Amino acid sequence: MIRLLLGDRIAQLSSPNPDNGPVGSCSHCVQTAYRIVAVRSRAGAERFTSLCTSHFVEACIMFPELMDMENARTRASGFTGGV
Ligand SMILES: [Zn+2]
Repeated sequence: MIRLLLGDRIAQLSSPNPDNGPVGSCSHCVQTAYRIVAVRSRAGAERFTSLCTSHFVEACIMFPELMDMENARTRASGFTGGV
């Protein structure tokens, strides 16, 4: 599960890009990554966590802002199946 420390915030939500090489697996299980979440610490350091669909849904429950970002992405792209 993603852990947020004091002062951390979710900086960015992106899709794994197959053009940049094989899509990796989830940081928490063996499923293929569905989203990559960038978390920025108060000191400005960014770290990335790959999440499969089920772990992404879990993360959205814990961090509602993730769901807002997902919804914004879906609206912006006119949902095409995950790109
Ligand atoms: Zn997973």
